[in-house]
Amino acid sequence: MAVRQELLADRRALVFGVANERSIAWGITRALRRHGARIALTYLNDVLERRVRPLGEEVGAELVLPCDVVEEGQVRAVFDEVRREWGGLDVLVHSIAYAPREDLEGRFVDTSREGFLKALRISTYSLVELARAAEPLFPDGGGSIVTLTYYGAEKAIPNYNVMGVAKAALEASVRYLAMDLGPRGIRVNAISAGPIRTLAAAGGVRGFRTLLGIVEERAPLHRGVTTDDVGGAAVFLCSDLGAAVTGEVLHVDSGFNVVGL
Ligand code: NAD
Repeated sequence: MAVRQELLADRRALVFGVANERSIAWGITRALRRHGARIALTYLNDVLERRVRPLGEEVGAELVLPCDVVEEGQVRAVFDEVRREWGGLDVLVHSIAYAPREDLEGRFVDTSREGFLKALRISTYSLVELARAAEPLFPDGGGSIVTLTYYGAEKAIPNYNVMGVAKAALEASVRYLAMDLGPRGIRVNAISAGPIRTLAAAGGVRGFRTLLGIVEERAPLHRGVTTDDVGGAAVFLCSDLGAAVTGEVLHVDSGFNVVGL
């Protein structure tokens, strides 16, 4: 009996959302690679390309492509290239979020219409359009789509504001996508990660250090969460270990969400 198995041997994984080595998407990418997956990465713009290309080399990424989800045609171009190079896809990781900085402080009630629409366009609708573009590329046996969410979808968290609303819509989208794509064997899940010091979080959300401290103090495990922790959960959801799991929000938060007082 074989005692070691690569859980994702030769699965073709397309990962959106690596900005640098601190990105959650990077922790996921490394974990997928460790378990045998083939990797394709996207980057937002020329500035980030300089950071993402060397990371791609580290994991032997076969494709490293530009994709700003608001730029007309860029999503299509990514999936066209994946079809040309790989002929299909087994795993899609969506690790993308954005809200204007001024909407991540102060009062939610003051959110501008423009800021609200931009946050939901980039952080939520992008999952729907990536899932739609990916659907025809998944083989008959199906595949796995994973996105990233946060506790601010469930509870009002100071300063998370419009991003909490975007994440609530994202979690609902996961359930509807799971229903639509389930008959094709495509599973759709979200990982609700505890706070991690990344570009988007530490640079964008005011009072982020306080959130980290509260988790360390009150979560059952009394420790923060790492991108490796999230990567492990992603491997579970993307491999056959998670074969009957879809439409789920899996908390990787040291247990913080289960604690009341
Ligand atoms: P990050 O800054 O490393 O990643 C955010 C990514 O979104 C970047 O790669 C950026 O290029 C991409 N992005 C932004 N606008 C885009 C656009 N228009 N088109 C394409 N890509 C775009 O930060 P992160 O913390 O790794 O964030 C990844 C995901 O994890 C986000 O959905 C975030 O909300 C979620 N999340 C983060 C935390 C945390 O504490 N860091 C906790 C829970 C969930």
